[in-house]
Amino acid sequence: MTAKIIDGTALAQRLRAEFATRAEALAARGQRPGLTVVIAGENPASRVYVRNKIKACSEAAFDSRHVEFPETVSTATLLHEIERLNADPEVHGILVQLPLPPQVDAPRVTAAIAPHKDVDGFHATNLGGLVTGHADFAPCTPAGVMEMLKSENIAIEGKHAVVIGRSNIVGKPMALLLLQAGATVTICHSRTVDLPAITRQADILVAAVGKPNFVTAGMVKPGTCVIDVGINRLPTGKLAGDVDFAAVREVAGWITPVPGGVGPMTIAMLLANTLKATERALRKD
Ligand code: NAD
Repeated sequence: MTAKIIDGTALAQRLRAEFATRAEALAARGQRPGLTVVIAGENPASRVYVRNKIKACSEAAFDSRHVEFPETVSTATLLHEIERLNADPEVHGILVQLPLPPQVDAPRVTAAIAPHKDVDGFHATNLGGLVTGHADFAPCTPAGVMEMLKSENIAIEGKHAVVIGRSNIVGKPMALLLLQAGATVTICHSRTVDLPAITRQADILVAAVGKPNFVTAGMVKPGTCVIDVGINRLPTGKLAGDVDFAAVREVAGWITPVPGGVGPMTIAMLLANTLKATERALRKD
C-alpha cells in the first residue's frame, strides 16, 4: 500500500483564499483583521517564521504588523508593549514570537496577552478551555492537524489516536483536540516504555518529537494516518520531519510530507484565529 499524501500547502492555500474573502467582508464592516507579532533579538529561525506569518497575513488582506525589540530588551518593556497592544482596538491578535532572550520572563510576557487576543492559543485560559472543551483559540499547529484530518474525512470518533510528544504547544493540545473529537487517545513521551508496541495500535499517529526519521515503518500499522509535525534541519541543510517518509508511506494509509505538510497549516490556523478574534470584536461593538 502506498499512502495518500495530505498536501498541507494546497489545503492552506485554499483556506487562505477563503480567509481573504472573509477579511475583506470584515474590512467593509469597519474591522480589518489586525495581527501584531512581537519579536525580540536576532534568532534567524524566528525572523524567518515572523516574515512568513506577516506575508501570509498581508496576502489575505489582514493588517499585519511587527514590533521589534533588541536582544537586550527587558521583561518590563515587553509587558508595557503587550499592555499597549491589549488596549489597541485595531489589534485583534497578538503573537509573541518564541524563544525570547534568556533574561526575559517569557511565561510572564505570554500570560500578559489578553486571552481574547491570544491567537497563538498558548495562554493558560485558552489551554484550560481546551481541557473543558470551550477554548476560544486552539494552538495553531494542532488545530492545523485537525483541519488536515477533516479535509480527508478521516474518521476520528472511536479511533485510537497516539500522539508522540507532550509539549504544551503541540503534544498536549493535540491530544486534547483528538479527545474532544471522540478518539481514544494515548500520549507517548521520552519516558514511554516500548513505544513501538503502542504506536502499532494507532489508527491516527501524530509525531511531534523533533528527531529526524524517528518513526519507522515497523512502528506503523498498515493503513494508519501518519501526521508528521516535526521540523528538523539536517546537516545537509535540508528539512526533514520526524517520520521516515520513504519507508512509512509504503505502510500508512495517509501521510503528511515535510516540508509542505503541517507547517503551512500552522500559519493558516493563525489567520483563522485572527479572523475569529476580529469577528468577536465586531460582535461586541
Ligand atoms: P519539544 O522538544 O517541546 O517536545 C518534544 C517531545 O518529544 C517531548 O514531549 C518528549 O517527551 C518527546 N520525546 C523526545 N524523545 C522521545 C523519545 N525517544 N520517545 C518518545 N518521545 C520522545 O518539541 P515541540 O515544541 O513539541 O516540537 C516537536 C517538533 O515539532 C519539533 O521538531 C518542532 O520543530 C516541530 N514543530 C513544528 C511545527 C509546525 O508548524 N509544523 C510547530 C511547532 C513545532
